[in-house]
Amino acid sequence: MVKEMSISESIKNLIGKAQDGHDLSRKEIVQLLSIPAKYSPVIFDAADKVRKEQMGDEIFLRGIIEFSNHCDRNCLYCGLRKDNTKLSRYRMTEDEIIATTHEIKKSGVSTVVLQSSEDSFYKADTVCRLIKRIRKETDLIITLSIGERDLNDYKAFQQAGANRYLLKHETASLDLYKYLRPGCNWDNRLQCLRWLKELGFETGTGNMVGLPGQTTEILADDLLVMKFLDADMLGIGPFIAHSDTPLAGIDNDDLDLTLRVIAAARLITRDTNIPATTALATLHPKGRLYALQAGANVVMPDFTPEIYKNRYDIYPGRKDVGSALEILRELENDFYSIGRTINYSVGNRHIKRK
Ligand code: SAM
Ligand code: SF4
Repeated sequence: MVKEMSISESIKNLIGKAQDGHDLSRKEIVQLLSIPAKYSPVIFDAADKVRKEQMGDEIFLRGIIEFSNHCDRNCLYCGLRKDNTKLSRYRMTEDEIIATTHEIKKSGVSTVVLQSSEDSFYKADTVCRLIKRIRKETDLIITLSIGERDLNDYKAFQQAGANRYLLKHETASLDLYKYLRPGCNWDNRLQCLRWLKELGFETGTGNMVGLPGQTTEILADDLLVMKFLDADMLGIGPFIAHSDTPLAGIDNDDLDLTLRVIAAARLITRDTNIPATTALATLHPKGRLYALQAGANVVMPDFTPEIYKNRYDIYPGRKDVGSALEILRELENDFYSIGRTINYSVGNRHIKRK
């Protein structure tokens, strides 16, 4: 991917140091994120090599079901926020969710991600009943992404058979976090992530790139948070402004910076699972493919039933309308074109099937 080019010694040394797995200081991470754009392919290439060496050439699939868009929270960036009265709300029934997990199983994908807004309608008992049914009827590996809960809920989910949990820290800036997530507390988010880790969940965190007020230093702190939490999975995507939120109209099309944060995450955390997110595909038709060549190794096809899919309106213009299987078929050709294959199996570092 990378052509021979003249590259200054100090930049070369910094990228080489990261590629070889040496720890980078905050200052060095800031430098890595600030290198002139013409050197981006060199950073992406280094991250791609580390991805290949640590994770291989296979792309792991996670089938996602977005089962509710009712939210108790009011995050300034998100189209699902409670105060967005324009959104048509839905909740999938338990039977609809189970039927969709059967679709995922039939497609050969072995992991389901159950995601929702923070919806207190789904009490711990309901979520546990779902987890048990999914494990019994499909034996899929289960990732939950349903926001902040208390320790007892997380324990119950784990005992019921959930294996993974995705809870992005969103931003490492406490001030930005407080502004963007009214009524929420960064320490609480971190406490949740620590609990999840301690309980033995394969734990995912991550951030958004391009938030208003975000600096390169804050992005470096995001990467340090990912490292110190020893996260297993990292969701890194561009912020995309939604017209029915207080952040309407804010421009963000920084594909290069988002790819650079993904690449830096691969260089710094080495063997994590990093999805090429739908948000990237939304930003650019080849966004997902670029991410897969800059350190990412996971794709999450959306199995949410068509009647609900458009209403999970986090940000506008979401890519991936159409059935997950159709999308997968299209993606398959793209993956092969860059020398990669699809692995439908579990693909993780720690999980043993219970
Ligand atoms: N409610 C759960 C939570 O907040 O953790 C999970 C669902 S939430 C919709 C999933 C992710 O969407 C968040 O972690 C956030 O990073 C992302 N998101 C929300 N609004 C976004 C936007 N405008 N642009 C890009 N990503 C966004
Ligand atoms: Fe709700 Fe999550 Fe959106 Fe915040 S990011 S409004 S918690 S769905």
